[in-house]
Amino acid sequence: MSAGLSSQVSRDYQLTLTNFLERARRFFPRQEIVSRGAQGISRYNYRQFYRRVCRLDNALSALGIGQGDRVGSFAWNTHRHLELYFGLPCMGAVMHTVNIRLSPEQIAYVINHAQDKLLFIDEDLVPAIEQVAAKLPGVQRYVIMCEGELPPTSLAPVCSYEELLAEAPENYDFPQLDEGLPAGLAYTSGTTGDPKGVIYTHRMLFLHSFALALAGGFGISEADTTMALVPMFHANAWGIPYTSTMVGAKQVLPGPHPQPEEIAGLIQTERVSFAAGVPTVWIGLLQFLEQQNYDLSSLQQIVCGGSAVPLSLIKAYRDKLGLQIHQAWGMTEMSPAGSVGTLKRSMSDWPAEQQLAQQAKQGLLLPGLEMRVLDESGCEVPWDGETSGELLVRGPWVAREYYRDPEASAQRFAGGWLRTGDVVTVDRESYLQIVDRTKDLVKSGGEWISSVALENALMAHPQVLEAAVIAVPDERWSERPLAYVVLKPDQQLSAEELLGSITAQFPKFWLPDEVTFIDELPKTGVGKFNKRALRQLAQQRPRR
Ligand code: AMP
Repeated sequence: MSAGLSSQVSRDYQLTLTNFLERARRFFPRQEIVSRGAQGISRYNYRQFYRRVCRLDNALSALGIGQGDRVGSFAWNTHRHLELYFGLPCMGAVMHTVNIRLSPEQIAYVINHAQDKLLFIDEDLVPAIEQVAAKLPGVQRYVIMCEGELPPTSLAPVCSYEELLAEAPENYDFPQLDEGLPAGLAYTSGTTGDPKGVIYTHRMLFLHSFALALAGGFGISEADTTMALVPMFHANAWGIPYTSTMVGAKQVLPGPHPQPEEIAGLIQTERVSFAAGVPTVWIGLLQFLEQQNYDLSSLQQIVCGGSAVPLSLIKAYRDKLGLQIHQAWGMTEMSPAGSVGTLKRSMSDWPAEQQLAQQAKQGLLLPGLEMRVLDESGCEVPWDGETSGELLVRGPWVAREYYRDPEASAQRFAGGWLRTGDVVTVDRESYLQIVDRTKDLVKSGGEWISSVALENALMAHPQVLEAAVIAVPDERWSERPLAYVVLKPDQQLSAEELLGSITAQFPKFWLPDEVTFIDELPKTGVGKFNKRALRQLAQQRPRR
């Protein structure tokens, strides 16, 4: 074969998620998918999963959903959500995972911005959508993912997911799709303004899944039982549902609000070997296991990320439970995986404490990605483990722009690179370590809180002159918001009164734990709140 012909052939093959779906059905028909729901555990296998995806796609076609249409989900990690994860992209539509932790205004904004035609909602989350439904003119139908009868609801027109599937045929001819077509859409919090959309093409998700399956990635194989504790409504549950299906692993989907007791129970009974979640989840589980005895001997790997993983947490899992935590770093804009903190072979004879310190770094960039670290003047910093700069990345599963948002795109994407907003050092082994963030946001329990939105709400109070919100470290949630407030002259106001005035506008977890009244806010040379100075001030406050 001539070189010209062979490159033609490889370019013609489209990297789409349909390949993963067909492979799982054919090669692993009896492998299980276990899903925890309101009414307990349900289980089926990849063959049954495939049939339900076919029914779903027939039902979606009958509802007029076609190529390129966006469809929203508002759901936990369940088998139905997994069916949408494949059903939508494999018919050519776009799976928009709406983050259930957003404020009501943001929920309405992202559904409208994405122009979602249908919305699939978990039963217990229906009230949150009812609250904003009047602001969703483009949604043509709501589908409630419930076990039995459709619950009473003001949403209309509405039907149940199971009703929809029951009436649809079981055979579906998946279309030949171009790998460049959008498969998924997720929104991430911008520092200012509205959330920013990120489109994932089939090709991005396909290649991202390959990288995750590598031993230096998450190392997921058919022999694994995976459990994504990171939600499917945030950054594709780190791609674990796609990768697990690609390799034919058994999947455990932990359902609504999984608490330490349920997590430990699922690991024990389903023999979970791979689990991934934010530090808050692992901190909670550790505390629970200090009181309770569970058999976690099946667990071979824990991936923890989304926020910096404390060294003490890695050490506690190692020493108390004999379990290995690997740190992962990534971003919604990166599908989302960027780096993993596994140790190199040459580090195997390092002293245990040095290994631990290395594992507390964000790790090595995944194969396929490239990075640069730039100082404020745009020059590359040396990889000496000391000099810091902003991390820029590019690669096959890194977005090139925000969806329909040229202004935000121009700020964060330039020359094919994504400016991550993470300030890092890179050591002589090429391991990344995040040392700061240029993004003025608070990440609490794995979800973002907008400092600017809180500041604006606080400053709207008639007695408030100025307010600044910063992130302060928190043992359980990684970070919590702290508000510094300056009152107008001669005003009296308590923290409770002030917070009471903004409660209705935000999800409960957004509200600052502390409000500190001060006489004046420190400012930078250009008159902005000097958040660095405020962070220093916060360090000096007495511990609560
Ligand atoms: P998201 O798009 O919500 O996944 O958030 C991505 C951001 O979360 C990154 O740019 C970092 O600021 C932060 N982040 C993610 N993983 C880590 C980690 N392992 N350590 C520190 N920060 C992290």
